[in-house]
Amino acid sequence: MIVHVYPGGDLITHETDGDECVCGPTIEPVPRDDGTYGWLHTHHSLDNREAKETQ
Ligand SMILES: [Zn+2]
Repeated sequence: MIVHVYPGGDLITHETDGDECVCGPTIEPVPRDDGTYGWLHTHHSLDNREAKETQ
């Protein structure tokens, strides 16, 4: 199971269908209720919103 989280209204279309996305999403394992692990893909916006917030 893979869960994708990505910014709404971004300038690009994020790849959520298997191939690696151009934004370089952060991928981390997420423990599930049944003892297995899922994968959380956290996508990043490419319009520098995050960068502005840090300055
Ligand atoms: Zn992405």
